[in-house]
Amino acid sequence: MIKNVTVAGSGVLGSQIAFQIAFKGFNVTVYDINDDVLAKAKTKMIGLEDTYQQEIAKNQQQFTDSAKGVKYNSNLLPHLNDSINALINKSIETAKTTPSRISYQADLANAVSNADLVIEAIPEREDIKQNFYEKLARVAPKKAIFTTNSSTLVPSQFAEYTGRPDRFLAMHFANEIWINNTAEVMGHAGTDPAVFNEIIQFAKDIGMLAIPVRKEQPGYILNSVLVPFLDAAEMLYLDGVGDPELIDKTWMKATGAPAGPFGILDIVGITTAYNIILNYAATTGNEKFTQLGDLLKTQMIDQGKLGVATGEGFYKY
Ligand code: NAD
Repeated sequence: MIKNVTVAGSGVLGSQIAFQIAFKGFNVTVYDINDDVLAKAKTKMIGLEDTYQQEIAKNQQQFTDSAKGVKYNSNLLPHLNDSINALINKSIETAKTTPSRISYQADLANAVSNADLVIEAIPEREDIKQNFYEKLARVAPKKAIFTTNSSTLVPSQFAEYTGRPDRFLAMHFANEIWINNTAEVMGHAGTDPAVFNEIIQFAKDIGMLAIPVRKEQPGYILNSVLVPFLDAAEMLYLDGVGDPELIDKTWMKATGAPAGPFGILDIVGITTAYNIILNYAATTGNEKFTQLGDLLKTQMIDQGKLGVATGEGFYKY
């Protein structure tokens, strides 16, 4: 039974995961490398509280608009309205109280001392994750399940360092978790099927559409499609075929998609995109990926343009 959850890493995704889980009523401890980063995490949670309230209010508006066009039994409509409004008010209250269910810890042993589940959302680097699991295995209680939110690395790469390979698997969330509420659940060959099922249920309990990925696959379903798409767009930019705006406009206009690849990259965060490119450069030896990494480093990261989170990426926010 999962009650207490520790989220390791409070960046773009870790903060969203922690907030969503606390929003659904669980106790959440956020762990990160030091108190300065954790202070920033607290500020992010206040921003998320605001975002959730705005999203809930948007739903209320959509309900009111759609109700206008629907013919209800007039005796029933006021009651329907009352119950929907009561639910919406309850959700707003829940968003307001969510930060009170989140605590912060820069000491790993303290952060996981009572954890039933540890969700790892630290940088997309094999060395950092491996080192983290080695430390975590030494201090986490035996009962704790570990999941990784890695975008492109697979659980079998880390299983042996967790001290509990049977209780280790991936649970991969999408960015802007409150709208894009998917959780791809993927084990490695040694994951206990009962643990897999427990995480599927947990994903549902925290409001996700749980997606059981049947076979270990770098990038799961989502990123197996998304990452090559983003890489293709970045390569066009690197080769001088078009600038980000033109590439995005072409894609959006021609397919009706609400965002283009560079708009998506800004939401993902340039640091994560950069780490993925470097992993590809190292594993494929493809020189173009190295050039792309250099471009992201010099034109974006070194200039503090990390995406939506910092107010500027390929676009300004
Ligand atoms: P990020 O760079 O925004 O945040 C990483 C956080 O980890 C930072 O707060 C950092 O201080 C912390 N950290 C660094 N080393 C640590 C350590 N040893 N122990 C604990 N914390 C440490 O990264 P992100 O975008 O949130 O990505 C985190 C993970 O989630 C990656 O594996 C990434 O692939 C995955 N992911 C990201 C997205 C996305 O859209 N950004 C989507 C799905 C999955």
